Amino acid sequence: MYKLYLADCAEHTKICLRERFYRHIFNTHFNLSFHTPKKDHCVTCTAYEIANAETRVTLQENYDRHIAFKNRARQEKNSDKIESVKL
Ligand SMILES: [Zn+2]
Repeated sequence: MYKLYLADCAEHTKICLRERFYRHIFNTHFNLSFHTPKKDHCVTCTAYEIANAETRVTLQENYDRHIAFKNRARQEKNSDKIESVKL
């Protein structure tokens, strides 16, 4: 974000603030923040979720395979946890 600000200043021949002051102004004078996702999503899931209905049709097969693989990996992890407790 600061790099964009610097580029904008250079483009409009404006004097730039130092990064520290820029951050201070950004954090205290604007009601803005960066969205922190509650859970990380991979590229495949994100592409599917933001796709429109038409695009989803083309992504569906790959997404279904991805979810099946994810579920299988989760099952394997859980069974490994159970096995490790037995040892
Ligand atoms: Zn995913």
